[in-house]
Amino acid sequence: MTTNRGRKDVIRDRMAATGESYNVAARNLKAMKDMGATRDARLVQRWQPADSLDVPCPCGGTCEPGETCDHCHARHRHVKRYPGSVTDVEVWADRYECMGCPSSYTLTIHLAGRPWGVAETVVQGGAAEEIVRARVFPGVVHPLLRAEATAESGSGSDED
Ligand SMILES: [Zn+2]
Ligand SMILES: [Zn+2]
Repeated sequence: MTTNRGRKDVIRDRMAATGESYNVAARNLKAMKDMGATRDARLVQRWQPADSLDVPCPCGGTCEPGETCDHCHARHRHVKRYPGSVTDVEVWADRYECMGCPSSYTLTIHLAGRPWGVAETVVQGGAAEEIVRARVFPGVVHPLLRAEATAESGSGSDED
């Protein structure tokens, strides 16, 4: 188990400040970091499409300009963003819709430092094969994966 010195120093600072044990301080620091990343991921996903192409796209300007439509020659606008991979947490998919007709298309983009979740390497069963499994941040909508820990925020279960 190797841990870099910088991280240990941060944990020790927190232990000194809060009186927490090493493990508790480490866990709380990780939770804070996850929370920041979770908030960022929600911001990447949660915005309303612009009403006009004259204003910057509310996604934060990280998309491509919409293409001109082949059918009606209006422009496409960026309307939606969602995770675009089940293993690469920095891959997002951008959906564009034509402002003049039902035409649409999707572009896959890579947003460095803006993950929608955490990728973990897990060893799987009999063959002891290492696979990458992604954990979706709570609050992020993934078309193929479900966010963890939704039960925590929900009301009591319906089990009887
Ligand atoms: Zn955009
Ligand atoms: Zn069109």
